Amino acid sequence: MRVYADQAATTKISSRSLQAMMDCCKEHPGNPSSLHEAGRDAEAVLEKARSEIAAMLHAKPAEIYFTSGGSEADNWAITQAAALGTKKGKKHLISTAFEHHAVLHTLEALQKQGFEVTLLPVHEDGLVRPDELEAAIREDTALVSVMYVNNEVGTVAPIAQIGEICRRKGVLFHTDAVQAAGHLPIDVEAGKIDMLSLAAHKFHGPRGVGALYVRKGIPIGNLIYGGGQERGKRAGTENVPGIVGMAEALRESLEDRAQKNARVLQMREKLADAILQIPKTRLNGDRKNRIAGNLNFCFEGIEGESLLLYLDLQGICASSGSACTSGSLDPSHVLLALGLPAEVAHGSLRLSLDETNTEEEVDYMIEKLPAVVERLRAMSPIWHDGRD
Ligand SMILES: *Cc1c(COP(=O)(O)O)cnc(C)c1O
Repeated sequence: MRVYADQAATTKISSRSLQAMMDCCKEHPGNPSSLHEAGRDAEAVLEKARSEIAAMLHAKPAEIYFTSGGSEADNWAITQAAALGTKKGKKHLISTAFEHHAVLHTLEALQKQGFEVTLLPVHEDGLVRPDELEAAIREDTALVSVMYVNNEVGTVAPIAQIGEICRRKGVLFHTDAVQAAGHLPIDVEAGKIDMLSLAAHKFHGPRGVGALYVRKGIPIGNLIYGGGQERGKRAGTENVPGIVGMAEALRESLEDRAQKNARVLQMREKLADAILQIPKTRLNGDRKNRIAGNLNFCFEGIEGESLLLYLDLQGICASSGSACTSGSLDPSHVLLALGLPAEVAHGSLRLSLDETNTEEEVDYMIEKLPAVVERLRAMSPIWHDGRD
């Protein structure tokens, strides 16, 4: 049996999204910037997808900018918020210690350019405290960037509360919603969100396409210079099939969302109950306040990397922390932000499920995982040390 339990790393494109892309490639081959009929046809398709995506986020079409994915959207939002801040003499940026590296590394680059960065703690439950955020906001704060759903532990930030604070204080609020889309309905109005990042491949759409929502009236500057695409803000011939595939995937993800989440939650809880029977095992992040499909464990005495290799041999695709950092032997910055000691954070396992997983797959993982942990512990010098 093969089980894909790494839906937070990427997802398989859905049949509907793939079909929409293929139809688009065949039927609308023009360049949306061309003035002839083929161009106008492609432009109509592009603008239809923009309107649909905007409506699904409770935004306006003119507030949606297409990008190459989540990283680009994050880089764009943060660098431009910083640039807007500079114009007003504001050089302070607030984020959290457990953001995706697309956010953290952008902030680091800005820090080198003279910005001051405050990273809020996320506590053991993996949640930002709105009162701590409010206390961190200063006269010269240009931006607050807090991720909607964390990619490693799945915890869901109190977005509406954060949005309310930022709006009241007159500070721009960006959220990396890459892990929220496809799992939770998104409403930029209700959340008082100024900027929001999306990536299609995290919700069964194609790779290499995403979006940045920018609230009307925010004079965002360019990340890419060139032609007049995306209202002159993001040059380059648009990835029309990818954008159409993203719109279809987002629509599909929202259909029967509550029922899908209920089923995923049931599978997750069964899996969590079984895995937590293994001695010296902990669940990272709040058990309730997380998206339905996420589990993140630490098993004392084992390395996350060897656990992944052994699970892979059993046909189970999982991850230790995020795909972007596995391969490096550093403990997860997310788990360190949750206050775990480095030696414990090393032994982490993320299992991320969604509606494409099955009960049989969950049973298979419940059958295989405890034996793998036991075997690795039997070989582990740290584990024996721990017992002595
Ligand atoms: C995957 C991910 C990104 C990066 O998206 P790409 O489309 O791979 O560039 C950014 N933020 C979060 C939270 C993610 O999970």
